[in-house]
Amino acid sequence: MFKGRSLGMLVPFMALGCHPLRELDDQREAPPRLVQQPLAGAFAGQVTALYLVPSDQDLDVEGLAWYEAAVDDVRGFYELQSGLTFDFNIQVVQSAHPAMWFECDDGDTCWGRLHDQLWELHYPLYADNTCFLVAQQGNGAHWAAAMDPLTFGGLAQVGADAFQQMVDSDCAPGVCPQGGQDGDGVTGGIAHELGHAFGLPHPPETLPNRAFSIMAEHWHYPDNGFFGAEVELLRNHPILRCAGPGCEPAESLQGSCDAACGTQAEAGCWCDPDCEAYADCCADVGVCTPPEEEGTCAGYCGSQSSDDCYCDEECRDYGDCCADGSACATCGYCD
Ligand SMILES: [Zn+2]
Repeated sequence: MFKGRSLGMLVPFMALGCHPLRELDDQREAPPRLVQQPLAGAFAGQVTALYLVPSDQDLDVEGLAWYEAAVDDVRGFYELQSGLTFDFNIQVVQSAHPAMWFECDDGDTCWGRLHDQLWELHYPLYADNTCFLVAQQGNGAHWAAAMDPLTFGGLAQVGADAFQQMVDSDCAPGVCPQGGQDGDGVTGGIAHELGHAFGLPHPPETLPNRAFSIMAEHWHYPDNGFFGAEVELLRNHPILRCAGPGCEPAESLQGSCDAACGTQAEAGCWCDPDCEAYADCCADVGVCTPPEEEGTCAGYCGSQSSDDCYCDEECRDYGDCCADGSACATCGYCD
C-alpha cells in the first residue's frame, strides 16, 4: 500500500530536534552476558518501561503521562497487527547524574551511557525474558535497541524530549501526522525500537513493500504493521502472548487474493509464488494456485490410479485427484 511512495523528503521533523524521519541505524548487539542479577525474576515476562530523569531536571509530568499513553498505544498496535500482546509497567527512575553526563555525539556513545546508568542502578539488563524500554529525558536524538537471542532479554532507548513536543502540539499517541508524513513517527519510533528489543531486524532492502513494516519506516504509524515472518519471530518471544483465543493472524494478512493473484493485494498481503517464503500470503492464497492435476481415472474410479493420483471421494479434500477425477461420478469409461 506504500508502493510508489516517494522516500526522498524525510527531514523536516529533525528541525524540531526530534526523532528524525529517516530509517534508523539503530539496531545494536547485546553486550556479553553478565552474571544474572538476583532481582531478574521481578522484571521477567513483561515490558518494564522506565522513564529516566537526570538529577538536574524536574520530572516532566506531562511527558511521563504521554509516554505511558504511547506505550499503551504501541501495545494496542502490536495486538491489532500481530495478534500478540504484552504486559507493561511504567517506573520513574531518578538518575544521580545530570543531563550533561548523558550527552553524547553518536548513537554508540549514548547507548553505552544508558548501559552504564542502568547497571549502576542494578537493573538486570538482558536477563531471561526481560525487556527494558527506557525513555530518557534530556536525550532527544539517539534511539537504539538490542536483544540477546539466548535470553530474550531486550533493551530499548528512546528520547523523551520528543514527547513534550507532542504534548505541546496536543497530539495523543498515534493521532497526529508528523513532519509532513502520513503518521506519528514518535510513537512509531517507540514501536520500532520495541521491535528490536523483541529481536526483530530491519526487513531486507530487497523486500517489496518493505515500508509496510514498522521495522522499516516507522513514520507511517499506526498505518503499517508486521510481515508474517516478523509475526512468527514475535510469536516465539516469551514476553508476547496471544491477544485472544486462537491468536488470530495479523490484520494485514487477512486480505483477499480476489483480483490480486500473482501480485500484492490491497490489504498489503501477497498472492504470488514467493509469499510462502516470506510468510506474508493473504489468508485465501489457495484460490490462486489450484493444485496441478495429472493422470487419469479411467479404470480406477473409487481408488488410486496407476498414475499415483486418486479417484475417490476424499481426493478433493487431500488435493490429490487425477485430472479427470470428477468424471468418475458420471462417465461411462470408468469401471
Ligand atoms: Zn531500527
